[in-house]
Amino acid sequence: MKFGTKAIHAGVEPDPTTGAIMTPVYQTSTYVQASPGDHKGYEYSRTQNPTRDALQKSLAELENGKYGLCFSSGLAAIDAVIKLLNPGDEVVAANDLYGGTYRLFTKIFSKFGIKFHFVGMENVSEIEEHINSNTKLIWLETPTNPMMNIIDIKGASEIAKKHNTLLAVDNTFATPYLQNPLDLGADIVMHSVTKYLGGHSDVVMGALVVKDQKLNDDLAFIQNSSGATPGPQDCFLVLRGIKTLHLRMQRHSENGRKIADFLKDHPRVDKLYWPGLENHPNHQIAKEQMRDFGGMISFTLKGDSKEEAFKILESFHYFTLAESLGGVESLVNHPATMTHASIPREERIKIGLLDSLIRLSVGIEDADDLIADLKAALEK
Ligand SMILES: *Cc1c(COP(=O)(O)O)cnc(C)c1O
Repeated sequence: MKFGTKAIHAGVEPDPTTGAIMTPVYQTSTYVQASPGDHKGYEYSRTQNPTRDALQKSLAELENGKYGLCFSSGLAAIDAVIKLLNPGDEVVAANDLYGGTYRLFTKIFSKFGIKFHFVGMENVSEIEEHINSNTKLIWLETPTNPMMNIIDIKGASEIAKKHNTLLAVDNTFATPYLQNPLDLGADIVMHSVTKYLGGHSDVVMGALVVKDQKLNDDLAFIQNSSGATPGPQDCFLVLRGIKTLHLRMQRHSENGRKIADFLKDHPRVDKLYWPGLENHPNHQIAKEQMRDFGGMISFTLKGDSKEEAFKILESFHYFTLAESLGGVESLVNHPATMTHASIPREERIKIGLLDSLIRLSVGIEDADDLIADLKAALEK
């Protein structure tokens, strides 16, 4: 099955009771048993729910995995992965992670005796220097947020295999339409479903997809034991969102290219970060592991003035100033004061996250209107 067909059909069967073509919202906490233990495979909705099952199967197929697991947020999904580890275990993590992931690792799991090494992974051989006999997991995200760095997943997976550690990839920015980490050797794919998979800025959810049965069993045990599971209404909304994932991603990527083309020649723009640009430092790897380059773009202003960045952010019509990304509508964000405010200024400057950095989540509106909006805001 090709991707567009999977987006419509994967995991979704007509409802066995009525033949309903769309998976019903099984809004129930529990299921009737004829006598103790005599049930139809469903006991309690934290453990199993038919609406969630359909979504989990759909996600597993989209990522070319075998098992999908949904969580009440992206962070709850990441939390479940780290709970596979024991005190004394070590993790090598990319140094340019979603801020909430960094916070979960450093403020919550460090307390329980898990040690994290944060490493620049654009050159994957750096990973190996931080691996020792306690290393159990490599965690990375690509493209990264907001600097749009690209990490070589296949290269990282070779290192993980050599040292017998798990490799987990946060695939939120790329989505399974642009990139499939399991095919490149990763063991776990993680998504903030909140973003492109949901796609309509109306759900908070997370997911994991794996191929290995034992790994699935361990994660499902944590999913049920810790209990951060999503409700059926949210699962239904995501099942609906996924039906247009391929169309949306195609348009996000087309619009991304047009906007990157406009910004790259604009006199006020200093650095432009989009992996589809030939002069992007990891463009070659992006071309090898991604099918297109998506709609996430960051840029800085000449002179690096925060005040000037603010003026631009306040004068948009269609780019809405908000946290989050990946919805049908275009959003804009000021990472230094919004999504990445918890990173000390010296640290963020080191990775290029300057005061004037503006991050765009390019939506699926008409590109001409978006470009006119950017032009007006930059030239006001
Ligand atoms: C948003 C995001 C997360 C966290 O997901 P939530 O659904 O907000 O909990 C993790 N990783 C990336 C790359 C994200 O953009």
